[in-house]
Amino acid sequence: MLADLSEALQQRQQQGLYRSRPVLEGPQSPHVTIDGREFLAFCSNDYLGLANHPALIEAIAEGARRYGVGSGASHLISGHSQAHHMLEQALAAFVGLPRALLFSTGYMANLAAVTALVGREDVIFADRLNHASLNDAALLSRARFIRYPHLDLVALEKRLAATDAQRKLVISDAVFSMDGDQAPVAGLLALCRRFDAWLLLDDAHGFGVLGERGSGSLYSLQQEEWSAPHLIYMATLGKAAGVSGAFVAAQAPVIETLIQHGRTYGYTTAAAPLLAHALLTSLQLIEQHSWRREQLARLTGRLRNNLQPLPWQLLPSETPIQPLLTGESQEAVRLDLALREQGIWVPAIRPPTVPEGRARLRISLSAAHTETDIDRLSAALHALARH
Ligand SMILES: *Cc1c(COP(=O)(O)O)cnc(C)c1O
Repeated sequence: MLADLSEALQQRQQQGLYRSRPVLEGPQSPHVTIDGREFLAFCSNDYLGLANHPALIEAIAEGARRYGVGSGASHLISGHSQAHHMLEQALAAFVGLPRALLFSTGYMANLAAVTALVGREDVIFADRLNHASLNDAALLSRARFIRYPHLDLVALEKRLAATDAQRKLVISDAVFSMDGDQAPVAGLLALCRRFDAWLLLDDAHGFGVLGERGSGSLYSLQQEEWSAPHLIYMATLGKAAGVSGAFVAAQAPVIETLIQHGRTYGYTTAAAPLLAHALLTSLQLIEQHSWRREQLARLTGRLRNNLQPLPWQLLPSETPIQPLLTGESQEAVRLDLALREQGIWVPAIRPPTVPEGRARLRISLSAAHTETDIDRLSAALHALARH
């Protein structure tokens, strides 16, 4: 049996697909230490640079003193702490929806939201580039799973018009994790309204980053649009928020349904209350520190400007996710390794994470980067383009 596994692993290695885990020696930061060597890193989702913020470290310590370390039980038994409860209320108010429900991870939130809302008789329509957790959720739900071309509202409309299923659920990343581009949120909402379908928006990469207050991808909607009854908003708390966890926000009957039927809600130990306690502080920092979003926008503009002349295509993205398309996996890996030799770390992303022929360097920026960091990466890429 072990020989079997070893053979499959060897094959994976030969295909250049073997995954291994660099071990970070300190906190998440643009400057990380691995095996005693410092790297300028462009690979975290710590967009606002909060993952190592002193106020959050202090809040975690205070949370531990107040609530202890472990939650001790699931939310439905005795693990639902006052800290969880207050955070849910704060999150709902922050994104402007009536209720919110906390989960331990975004992966679990997506599994619960999809499987609690649709089943065998229903249909799911999903953008082709959605996050893996949404696709897994769709398969687990046993609903019919129909994928539409990336961002294509016309194709989605045709598919919605062609179904006679009772319950319809449209699922989309709000900011696409490997491309950095954004879903047409208002258009999706309007289509769902017309066809009486639910819309589940996964804003893992927009929450904290988009909108003046950092409230995420709904910020540009009109009040009557975003209070639409069929909107289900999901975001994670381990990316821009700098801590861990996720939440779903929606109308009260949706949230109550998730509490009743969400298997990844009920059948798991609640996350430590100290995390929820720290997230209350994180939410304040997100709202008050608009300079972090301004810094991100400046750095993003500077990087795009610097990289425009390169032979590799810079995908059209206004978010801190800035992919540089190489096409072939070998080229992406070559750039990744060459940068690493110079102490710069930008991950190569290859199929199956992205479609065949769409390999890339995925540059992700943080408000903790400086203009000097951006210029160092740009100069290194320009030098590689010349060789
Ligand atoms: C990261 C991510 C998730 C999963 O969130 P975790 O909290 O890391 O489990 C879900 N959806 C998208 C789009 C993501 O990028």
